[in-house]
Amino acid sequence: MREVLIQGAEVVVTMDGTRRELKGADVLIRGGVIAAVGEGLTSKGQVVSAKGCVVTPGLINTHHHLYQTLTRAVPGGQDALLFGWLKTLYPIWAQMGPEEIHVSALTGLAELALSGCTLSSDHLYLYPNGARLDDTIAAADDIGLRFHPTRGAMSIGESAGGLPPDSLVEREAAILEDCIRVIDAHHDPRAGAMVRVGVAPCSPFSVSRELMRDAALLARDKGVMLHTHLAENDEDIAYSLHHFGCRPGQYAEDLGWTGADVWHAHCVKLSSEEIALFARSLTGVAHCPCSNCRLGSGIAPVRAMRDAGVKVALGVDGSASNDAGNLIGEARQAMLLQRVQNGADAMSVREALEIATLGGAQVLGRSDLGSLQPGKRADLAIWDVSGLEAAGAWDPVAALLLAGPTRVKHLFVEGRQVVAEGQITTLDLPRVIERHNTLARKLAR
Ligand SMILES: [Zn+2]
Repeated sequence: MREVLIQGAEVVVTMDGTRRELKGADVLIRGGVIAAVGEGLTSKGQVVSAKGCVVTPGLINTHHHLYQTLTRAVPGGQDALLFGWLKTLYPIWAQMGPEEIHVSALTGLAELALSGCTLSSDHLYLYPNGARLDDTIAAADDIGLRFHPTRGAMSIGESAGGLPPDSLVEREAAILEDCIRVIDAHHDPRAGAMVRVGVAPCSPFSVSRELMRDAALLARDKGVMLHTHLAENDEDIAYSLHHFGCRPGQYAEDLGWTGADVWHAHCVKLSSEEIALFARSLTGVAHCPCSNCRLGSGIAPVRAMRDAGVKVALGVDGSASNDAGNLIGEARQAMLLQRVQNGADAMSVREALEIATLGGAQVLGRSDLGSLQPGKRADLAIWDVSGLEAAGAWDPVAALLLAGPTRVKHLFVEGRQVVAEGQITTLDLPRVIERHNTLARKLAR
């Protein structure tokens, strides 16, 4: 079986049960799996020097809208709150089609890979002009990242009192049918799966109560996970109280949207009762600090969630509300934001790194990922701390978030090298960017 030896790392951050950090260690990969971690390992296969590098588990992104890389920094959306921001962007998104969805996913995933991400989720909730979830799955396969696409949906258009234009909403029966189609076609429940599909109505304010309930029933029947946006900002809470007569946590619980197979994006406004509910029910949270800052939504109570035992992971969120897709940068921002709210000792670098790696694996139900231990899948990020950004750092692991670098030197997914010497090996990236920019210019016309 094919072997790769990652040799002589400055530090290997294992994220194992005791969070060991091994100085001068090697990592041996056999096939798609980690065979050994320790000093003095040998192999007749490929040898990659990790001299001057920190090796971490691959970072895991649990919330994104990859198609939005085509609508970065749109003038009308730069300074708007969530609902106004959506209303500016909906008509632009309505012009997209399969090529836009595919190329934007390639671009967004390439950006994530270079920032240390080996597994990304995606939340695609609009399917204009023949676009399909399959267009993003093809992109993930092209670049070689592990992928958890979720079949999103919107069904309440403007004429029915909803936020999106009628042209972007679908019939609820058709949504459920397509959920079944993409699960049957692409979902892989086995250990080491490269693709797992989830079911993900966009938000409680863009689909009906019935669709939320039916989606949960369908997901449980199929054994797939559930994902949506929840309690993102004050407008969101006000909408829930006005239209549903309860807070988002209650609404979620009533419709089957709590449990170990559910994760919600944002959760900025969760109350202490809702935090207790999430902890009790093992419901996960995708924390998106940059997006929350960008849209002025607030600071998610991550400290309180973690202390209560809630599973928390990171998400860069869509590139129309970040607008970057740098996952190691997101870990830094998560750490800084908890310090703004709770003081300098509120979150350490190592805790933020844990949320970015192991936390993501736990939220996405991937016990085969998140740490560097024999038997786990070989998803790892190799960071060069011998260069400019980390120069002078006394603690190379802490330097990753306190200083830099913000891009990986090498990246392995399922034992395959996706980034080598800072370059994506699986795509002609300049050509992808050129196609991407051509499509963005067409949308701007
Ligand atoms: Zn989102």
